[in-house]
Amino acid sequence: MILSARLLLPISSPPRPDTSLLIRDGIIRAVGPTSALLRDVSGEPYESLGNAVILPGLVNAHTHLELTGLHGRLLPARSFTEWAARLLALRPTLDRTFFDASSLEGAETLLRSGVTCVADITSSGASLGPLKALGLRGIVFQEVLGLDPEQAAGRLSAAEEAVRSLALEASGSLLSVGLSPHAPYSLSEPLLDRCADLLRRSSIPATVHLAESPEEVAYIGLGLGPIASDLLPAVGRHAPSHRILGESPTAFLARLGLLSERLMAVHAVHLGGSDLELLKQHGVALALCPRSNSHLRVGTAPLPRYLASRLRVGLGTDSLASNETLSLWDEMRFALALYDGTVTPQQLVTMGTLGGASALGMAAEIGSLEPGKRADVIALAIDHLDDVDPYGSLVRQASEKSVVLSMVDGKVLYRA
Ligand SMILES: [Zn+2]
Repeated sequence: MILSARLLLPISSPPRPDTSLLIRDGIIRAVGPTSALLRDVSGEPYESLGNAVILPGLVNAHTHLELTGLHGRLLPARSFTEWAARLLALRPTLDRTFFDASSLEGAETLLRSGVTCVADITSSGASLGPLKALGLRGIVFQEVLGLDPEQAAGRLSAAEEAVRSLALEASGSLLSVGLSPHAPYSLSEPLLDRCADLLRRSSIPATVHLAESPEEVAYIGLGLGPIASDLLPAVGRHAPSHRILGESPTAFLARLGLLSERLMAVHAVHLGGSDLELLKQHGVALALCPRSNSHLRVGTAPLPRYLASRLRVGLGTDSLASNETLSLWDEMRFALALYDGTVTPQQLVTMGTLGGASALGMAAEIGSLEPGKRADVIALAIDHLDDVDPYGSLVRQASEKSVVLSMVDGKVLYRA
């Protein structure tokens, strides 16, 4: 088909007015002036989206869709540790029915708001079904947790089994499966070690919450602070289950061999200069979640520094346990105000598309509108679209209500 609109944002090149996409067999075959494509290509269905703007589908680089039903139950939070303790206390009350309903609601919300690809962490496995049924692209990461070193072997083999079963369920979809060691403070050192070993043996992608809070930094380095005094006892532990060597969370994971190009580190609020060097050295990607960080009062990630460092950086909403909406437009809008002139709308829209795709190792297939890439495309109707600053118009005005079309792999999955 030929798809045209008033303005097309390829992301990898400047905005183009009166430009169309030629899409065949799920692939973008050409990007060119509408008049020329209509003249040169015959027999293709043609659809004009009028005044809309066409861009690549959004990539939500960090979610926990199975927690969507916790909306409004854990916020506001007084501190990261208080929030985590309340989530921990709630978890035993959440069953498969809750996770299924949450995952479906979350996946539908993503699709309606313009997300075509998602990196989702699941403990229950519930999110894969709805994402597959809706036709979304992405990676579903099996979560691994466990502070008892005695249980490390059992936890890892259970996770391996879960990854295998998710991978079977994912066949015939646009989803792949990865592993998510939850965070440096929530797995024992032997379990992190085993995760690193599994990741070396396999080629699956991985994601980890890293350097999210000052509490994490104090706990990993010194074995002290609210994680040691409040969170550990809540899971029946009374001493850290890692060696206390004064390391940063990043240096700790580096020592265990977890850093690699296949790893996406989420949050990255508290990274020192040497941490950043380690991440660059190993080619680790980042996913930032500004609103979640603000709700959990953990600080503000130095995004301008990351963008200047040429790391791969995506944007995520995190779950509704620590955020108000799953909208990446809301996330961009918040970040624009938060970074107040130090990050541009263009950088934010790029993070929400090509940046996320790169962070997930998928930039060769998606993230921009270029011939040869898969046709993951969205169109938005914006009331006051400024042709000179379309990124600014999008970040300031776009919402779920603006999305008029959402296409994944050449298939229209949603129309307003
Ligand atoms: Zn998370």
